[in-house]
Amino acid sequence: MGHHHYLTIEQRETLARLIRSQYDTGPRLKTALERLHQLDYGVCIECGKNIEFVRLQDDPAALHCRACARLPVASES
Ligand SMILES: [Zn+2]
Repeated sequence: MGHHHYLTIEQRETLARLIRSQYDTGPRLKTALERLHQLDYGVCIECGKNIEFVRLQDDPAALHCRACARLPVASES
């Protein structure tokens, strides 16, 4: 907690690969790739909570958690 990123290195590498695989989708993802290893990456800019890893996998450039983005709560499918 605190000094370490809540995402594991492995999780961040997964996201980095994901971003690189769709690198041509624009500057938004390019920025996400740069931010990936900063401590504030994956933290909701509205409520400060950690953004769910599954959400980051859907959108690595997400700046809001599911609740703040007003997305429906994921149903286990
Ligand atoms: Zn939030």
